[in-house]
Amino acid sequence: MIRELVTDEELLSTPCEPATAEDADLAQDLLDTMESIEDAACLAANQIGVAKALIVYKDDKNRSHVVYNPGMKRALRPYRTEEGCLTRDELKKVTRYDQATFTYQELVDDRLIPRKKECRGWTAQILQHMIDHCKGKLI
Ligand SMILES: [Zn+2]
Repeated sequence: MIRELVTDEELLSTPCEPATAEDADLAQDLLDTMESIEDAACLAANQIGVAKALIVYKDDKNRSHVVYNPGMKRALRPYRTEEGCLTRDELKKVTRYDQATFTYQELVDDRLIPRKKECRGWTAQILQHMIDHCKGKLI
């Protein structure tokens, strides 16, 4: 189901609760909503009003991914950049890492399975932006 985007700063700046296997419907809503927005590359659950650490994104091959409880471990090669956000008007200067190891969970047969993935460039940047959303950081 396509949901409305939330721009309420209080909600967006609330740290998210861990997502669980029960949040599969929410994941589908995130995918539907991301698909409905032209040029949207990622979306966090709190951007549609639910403060859970659940995100979706499109990789550089335009494939969609659902990510439960993302975190970042080893991060290399920091750089400064400007980022825009679907639920903020202005660009913001941030420090990102060009390469990092991400931990997350994936829903398989109604269970959350821990995963780890090394990402670079665009995907790494998107995931860092999404992790900030989950922490309630406004970008
Ligand atoms: Zn954003």
